[in-house]
Amino acid sequence: MRTGTNTLFIPGPTNVPEVVRRAMNVPMEDQRGPEFGGFVLDILADLKRVFRTETARVILYPGSGTGAWEAAITNTLNPGDKVLMARHGQFSTLWAEMATRLGLEVELIDLAWGAATPVNEFARRLAADRKGQIKAVFVTHNETATGVTSDVAGVRKALDDCFHDALLFVDGVSSVGSIDFRMDDWGVDLAVTGSQKGLMCPAGLGVLAVSPKALAAAEKGRMKRAYFEFRDFAMLADTGYFPYTPPAQLLHGMRAALDRINAEGLDTVLARHARLAEGVRRGVAAWGLQICAEHASIASNTVTAIRVPEGVDARDVIRIGYERYNTSFGSGLARLAGKVFRIGHLGDLNEAMCLTALSVAEMALVEAGAAVEFGSGVAAAQAWYAQGRSVQPARIAAE
Ligand SMILES: *Cc1c(COP(=O)(O)O)cnc(C)c1O
Repeated sequence: MRTGTNTLFIPGPTNVPEVVRRAMNVPMEDQRGPEFGGFVLDILADLKRVFRTETARVILYPGSGTGAWEAAITNTLNPGDKVLMARHGQFSTLWAEMATRLGLEVELIDLAWGAATPVNEFARRLAADRKGQIKAVFVTHNETATGVTSDVAGVRKALDDCFHDALLFVDGVSSVGSIDFRMDDWGVDLAVTGSQKGLMCPAGLGVLAVSPKALAAAEKGRMKRAYFEFRDFAMLADTGYFPYTPPAQLLHGMRAALDRINAEGLDTVLARHARLAEGVRRGVAAWGLQICAEHASIASNTVTAIRVPEGVDARDVIRIGYERYNTSFGSGLARLAGKVFRIGHLGDLNEAMCLTALSVAEMALVEAGAAVEFGSGVAAAQAWYAQGRSVQPARIAAE
């Protein structure tokens, strides 16, 4: 029998706060009733603040982040269009596969799993594209498989420097609401997220922010689409009423989650993620282990992918954590299976929880055969957290 809490350190779905869970326990209501539209409009307005946009339109699709990817592509692009993207982890791989399946021509830059979006190489290819054949650039802001954050602002600059007109698509599923993301400042045209990561809700909503330029492209887009048609969701932005049956319970959860983000303040939420992530990374360094990210400057504040030592199978670490200690870590995906385990540190989280993750990971690592000293990672994180209390968030981010 399992006793106590099952501690969840996968990078999504993340822990759903008690108030969010309770907010969803409401009777069914009239989705065309007089109050429902205003209730939804308020959610959309708050989501725009999370994306840091005033000009984009937010669309909510019953579905998940992957569905929102599909909506972004099928509404704005045409069959055979060329798109530029990098493949450097499982999520960018899946996104490229979807683009190919939907009939796009993907100009793919293959990188090590652990690298970030290659801004300079993107700049070179965009500058060389004199005929403007590249119609969109795809950036996986936070590659959840490897724990790597990419420089979206840098890609925007690369586009601007050569006056390139391509749309900028960003997968923000594991960054929006937990890592600094600036839709308007970075000129992002389509940003995608889901309800179950930084937004602290159960899975079930794909969230898309669409720039005016992308909305204009959608008017001309000739790709086949039906359920995801942007135009059918125009009434959502105007009135708050969905074209189809909305998942009302999830929306009540989203309302409560956004209330929490508003109460904490988005900047404080981001600083908290930076502080917690740094503690986890210091713990990993104290074990003498490497993270998957090629450089500290691109290490993610929402997930840390940890390479296990030679001779240790990361699947054992995950299994032991789960079976003996009721704790879930993220697995190594695809080619990283067995080599990596991941600690997700996003959403509703604090120092104590991160210390639990490190402490259980130490036991699981030792039991799986790694030469890790008990308490070493925990102590390193404790030292950081205890000091971090008195440090201003802005300085933490810069350090
Ligand atoms: C989780 C995740 C996805 C997939 O989202 P679903 O909601 O599972 O469809 C896509 N991209 C990234 C970066 C993710 O972390």
